[in-house]
Amino acid sequence: MFPERESDRPLAAWAGRDRIEGQVMSALTIILKTGGCAHDRCRMCSYRHERYNRLTHGELEAGLRAQLAWIENNFTLEDFDAVKIYTSGSLFDPLEVPVQARDALAKMMRGKIVIAETRPEYVTVDHLNQFVTLIDNGTHETPLFVAIGVETSNDTIREKCIDKGFSWDDFVKATEIARSAGAGVKAYLLAKPLFLTEREAIDDMISSIRDLSGTADMISLNPCTVQRNTELEYYWKQGAYRPPYLWSILTILSESPVHLTCDPLGGGQERGPHNCGVCDGPLVKGIRDYSLSADRELLSALLAIPCACKEEWDFVLREERSYCMPLTR
Ligand code: SF4
Ligand SMILES: [Zn+2]
Repeated sequence: MFPERESDRPLAAWAGRDRIEGQVMSALTIILKTGGCAHDRCRMCSYRHERYNRLTHGELEAGLRAQLAWIENNFTLEDFDAVKIYTSGSLFDPLEVPVQARDALAKMMRGKIVIAETRPEYVTVDHLNQFVTLIDNGTHETPLFVAIGVETSNDTIREKCIDKGFSWDDFVKATEIARSAGAGVKAYLLAKPLFLTEREAIDDMISSIRDLSGTADMISLNPCTVQRNTELEYYWKQGAYRPPYLWSILTILSESPVHLTCDPLGGGQERGPHNCGVCDGPLVKGIRDYSLSADRELLSALLAIPCACKEEWDFVLREERSYCMPLTR
């Protein structure tokens, strides 16, 4: 075994409540430090930098086991109905998370609903069956949801604005495999990646939500934030990118025929989804409340809050023009 180090803690872990399949549940969220995302190149992502570097497979497994021990020592797992596991990559990539460590994690979470982040290429019947067998004690009809950052249903936007490296068809195939292994699907959407106008970003989310209906059991809307050491930050520093207005996020939530969860990280700050600075506080809180309560009247009330910046937002929606590459050199 390897001695426990300070770095052998999860990157983050916190207790909270979440709306899962229409029910509010106590949920433990864990962000594990892993071998890192094999894709490692999305334009807006800085999570990919947070990884163990140059470890052997055995050392990586030991690091992950140490993180699991830390979780057991710092939380009472019986307190939680559900656990959300993020890896800043893919839990089901055996090079990123050694299978033995993944099995140990599954055994720890037996009897809970597990939502586990992964790219679609690692969704295989074998990986999922093994995981479901270890967590399922008959308490929940669907014990596992694979969480896939499909970001948008538009292949061009996913490729050009995000560089995500998989297609809508890849995503749909993964959802079919997940279902055949008895798992559900949670889809993550990214509101306003690079190069889209505010209007294009709203329209992209509305059409993506429509395309996801019948494919995903749950949808989470992630308003884009400007993370450090990313290509997105490079453009933002030059004034070539603005995170979405909170008005846009509220519009997407209210136009969606299904409930979306949404945690506007960095809400009200210049690197996160924001309005003018005056109205941001109650809107960010309201979006978080809606995420849990699914109260549609709250959304209407939030959209009706008067603020001078609404006119600015309206102007942006009308007048902003699409990003255009030069046609010649
Ligand atoms: S967004 Fe996900 S797939 Fe893309 S680089 Fe980051 S961790 Fe990898
Ligand atoms: Zn305002």
